[in-house]
Formats: sequence, C-alpha cells, structure tokens
Amino acid sequence: MTDRKHELAANLAKVEDRIAAACTAAGRAREEVTLIVVTKTYPASDVRLLSELGVRHVAENKDQDAAPKAAECAGLPLRWHFVGQLQTNKVRSVVGYADVVQSVDRARLVTALSKEAVRAGREVGCLLQVALDAGASERGERGGVAPGGVEELAALVAGSPGLRLDGLMTVAPLTGEYAGRQREAFGRLMDLSTDLRRAHPAANMVSAGMSADLEDAVAAGATHVRVGTAVLGVRPRLG
Ligand SMILES: *Cc1c(COP(=O)(O)O)cnc(C)c1O
Repeated sequence: MTDRKHELAANLAKVEDRIAAACTAAGRAREEVTLIVVTKTYPASDVRLLSELGVRHVAENKDQDAAPKAAECAGLPLRWHFVGQLQTNKVRSVVGYADVVQSVDRARLVTALSKEAVRAGREVGCLLQVALDAGASERGERGGVAPGGVEELAALVAGSPGLRLDGLMTVAPLTGEYAGRQREAFGRLMDLSTDLRRAHPAANMVSAGMSADLEDAVAAGATHVRVGTAVLGVRPRLG
C-alpha cells in the first residue's frame, strides 16, 4: 500500500468508529447511516484509492472539478453526489455523472434538472437543501430553500420527469437561531423530513452532518453523513 492509501485507510477507520459509536449511542443500527466521502479539492487518484478501500459514495461541490474527476473514475463502483450551489448552465454536465443532486433549492433548478435528465435518459435523485438560517439564504450567502418552501418544491420535483424525490439535506447554520446548535438544527430537519414523508413516503433520505458534527446528525436521525476533512485531510484554502 502507498503512504496515501494507508493514511486514507486509517482516517476511514476513525470515521467508521465515530459513526458506529454514534449509532450505538442513539440506539440505531450501523446500517441506517451511509457515509458519503466529500472529495472536493482532492484528485481523482484519491477517489480511486477510496473506492479500493470500500467507499461507495462520493460527493463534489463544483462541476468544473467534479466532471473531469468523475470521467477519470468512470467504471469504479461509485455513486456521485452533487452537494454545491448549482447554476442552471452547469446542469447538463452535472446530470452526466451525478446520481443524486443534494442541493436542489429552487424551481428553476428543478425545471433544468428535469429537462436534462430526460434528455440524457437518466433518473436523477434529488434532495431539497433546506436553509435553516433564512437570513443567510435571503442574503444569497448560501443555497437552500426555507422550511416553508419545502412542500411546494417537493411537489414540483415529484411531478417532474427524470427526477426522483429522495429527501432532504442541510448544512448546519453558522448564523441565526441555530448557530452553534447543530443538534437542534438537525432535529428541525428531521421534523421537516417527517412532514415530507407524509406526502412522499419514499423520500426518506436525510443528509446532514460533516466532519465536525456527524455525531449530532446521527443522534438526530440522519441517514447520510457527508465527511470530507476527517477522511482526506484539511483542504488547502481556495480563492
Ligand atoms: C465540504 C462539504 C462537506 C464536508 O465538510 P468537512 O467539514 O470537510 O467534512 C459536507 N457537505 C457539504 C455541502 C460540503 O460542501
């Protein structure tokens, strides 16, 4: 094994221990939580090593980085999740490799995703990204639909050809009433998920929790955690 593969294996083992401990603490089965490794800023060679180490879900947040990486990794048994703010002019490219888009937050994006999914003959899974700090999304600082807009956007996704409504996603807010209160933020997302599943029972994915707060997400009931730094290392500061 290369040094890098050893490093990734050791980091994965630590993250696996954390997820397992969090599941035990919450009285949940380990199988209820899926690890998605966020590979943004890291090269395709790392994605390949992760695949060899048994990772099956990876996530990216910028199409210009993700598209060539996914192409280089074609043939590996991976599911690709798109987790970044998505411009409609990137949708055609993203639909070419993403199995799930976790950052669906507005009607125009749904329309574009549906059109391109149909054109590509694919079914794309969609998570609605919920902004729990409404102020930040109003100021355009971060993507996400406000909790009050979830029902309408969900109905739009559910009725759009080529799209499959899979559930909800959030990023713990840095500002607003939930700042520093990850557990409460993820609990609010779970409540929204319960409401959503009344109308859309199959939309049972709840994507929450990153390197710093995955335990809070597992405790709240998340089905998917998105972990970057704890597996790959601290990202170089970009831009
Ligand atoms: C980068 C990123 C993550 C992973 O964050 P880490 O703190 O590195 O684990 C998770 N979700 C989204 C949406 C991200 O952009």
